[in-house]
Amino acid sequence: MDSAIDRNTGQIIDGEQLWYIDPVDKNGYLCRGCGVQVNPVSFELHHKVRPHFKELPTAPHEDWCDVDGEVKLVESARKKSVTTKDGFPGSFPAKLHLVDERAIITPAGIPASGAHRTSSGGASSGTTTGKRHTQWTANTIRPICRTFMNFPHDRLLPLDVPGTYGKTYDEVVRKLASGDIVSYPKQHIFAAPLSWSKPEDSNGKLTIKLSYGFWANKNLAQPYRVIIDYTGWSDAKKNYVLAEFEVSRAEAVKLGKPGKSSPKAWVFFLGEQDAANPSDFIVKDHRLICCLTGEL
Ligand SMILES: [Zn+2]
Repeated sequence: MDSAIDRNTGQIIDGEQLWYIDPVDKNGYLCRGCGVQVNPVSFELHHKVRPHFKELPTAPHEDWCDVDGEVKLVESARKKSVTTKDGFPGSFPAKLHLVDERAIITPAGIPASGAHRTSSGGASSGTTTGKRHTQWTANTIRPICRTFMNFPHDRLLPLDVPGTYGKTYDEVVRKLASGDIVSYPKQHIFAAPLSWSKPEDSNGKLTIKLSYGFWANKNLAQPYRVIIDYTGWSDAKKNYVLAEFEVSRAEAVKLGKPGKSSPKAWVFFLGEQDAANPSDFIVKDHRLICCLTGEL
């Protein structure tokens, strides 16, 4: 599982956030679907893989929990829309809400029981895929970006990200122009592939080069850059952001195959475009940048 509920705060935590949570409470996380305890794994940086959550043999998911089914759903969603006349069959983040990380909130993603799941009846069909929209609130852009990537044919799902243009995934999230520097009149969550050059770290800023931008004579003459201003961040948070670039790059190499649609490390961010240097976007909050591997 990519994310789970923090038992103490009720907030949904991305596996990647375990990189900076210290110490990780092994008993502190609950399934986003059914609320059983789940096990945080691979969160030490030396693992060099994405931290995530696993079902405990002693605490299996409730039979109505849909979290396990998400993997299968994503497999078919890569090929075609999975939305039917009954709506979207899974749960998805429909809102971004940045909260104080220690604040205690009402668990948004955890249903009190399986009662929300209405059966479509039809005993002969043997299915229980009743109409159900479980929309939850994300605390970083990552689950939103993951949904954008995993459901390329279902981007009309509603999405509310304060300060951005649009009301659907399709409108809110945009790929940057691949071959030119564009001044964007509206705010979006932007995405572009990570370049091969290492992030530069100086004067309290990390500079991340992207592999889209202005091309001249078959050379990327001016790449888009994400400038991460980490003023006031702990070292753990800075290292967490850097770790995700490294892991994502390694994932892309591992999944690499010849051809144009090869999986890439995609940087997603919500930042301020520099009016004087429109190739640059400034990001100041670690919850507003992430890097995911796959095809967009
Ligand atoms: Zn569950």
